[in-house]
Amino acid sequence: MIKRTSPIIVGNWKSTPRTKEEGIKFIKQLEKKIATSKNKIPKKAYFIAAPDIFIPHLIPHAKRGYIGAENVSGLELGQHTGMEIPSQLQSGGADFTIIGHSEVRKLGETVEARAQKVANALHIKLTTILCFGEHKRDKEGKYLEELENDVKNTLSLVKRELFSNLIVAYEPVWAIGGAVPATASECFEAVIAIRRALASLGGIDYAKKVQILYGGTVSKDNAKAFLEEGGVDGLLIGRSSQEVSTFVDILNAVYTQK
Ligand code: PEP
Repeated sequence: MIKRTSPIIVGNWKSTPRTKEEGIKFIKQLEKKIATSKNKIPKKAYFIAAPDIFIPHLIPHAKRGYIGAENVSGLELGQHTGMEIPSQLQSGGADFTIIGHSEVRKLGETVEARAQKVANALHIKLTTILCFGEHKRDKEGKYLEELENDVKNTLSLVKRELFSNLIVAYEPVWAIGGAVPATASECFEAVIAIRRALASLGGIDYAKKVQILYGGTVSKDNAKAFLEEGGVDGLLIGRSSQEVSTFVDILNAVYTQK
């Protein structure tokens, strides 16, 4: 069971590292650097979304963090070759899963498929980090309306009572994997749109239970600003989570005492 630390710092390893030994080495080094940090980093400080097959190998070493999956199938138990369903991830030890990352959407994941994935994962209380974000921004602000509709459609099968296991990541696609992150104020307006959509689905009290992350070219230099001015409860980090040093730099930046 995940006890929410705030802020939630999530790394997304994607198709890295090459071997489970490298993954274990990473987690061991990360744990050591957190333990010896001069900053007061909480007991459970990180989430790492890793390749499924590595998850059970990483868990015994991840004392100060959570290990989860990068995607899950929305299909039911049965005849679906190569598809891992939420109960299988959970039983294999995954603490959480990401759903709807733009790199998965790009491969053809439909809104219906995503809606089924999130409904099935939350049904068994598997903590879910659900990603949303516009491809580009238009001057009229239509992307905000599209963002809200996407949130509403994707969560259409989910009972609001299950919102407490839901984390939403705002990840503008134009800011992922590039050089230019969103600004904290761009992030803030998207967070308002997401909260509005959540409130229209489940009412304000349930909407408040959902923590929201920002993702897209996060680094040690901008991490704190998103948390302090971007209206988010955490960060979803791609490239900078794939090297121990850059990931620890972000944790230290977030937890630097003034
Ligand atoms: C991501 O892929 O979710 C992501 C945020 O990537 P990056 O941090 O590399 O932009």
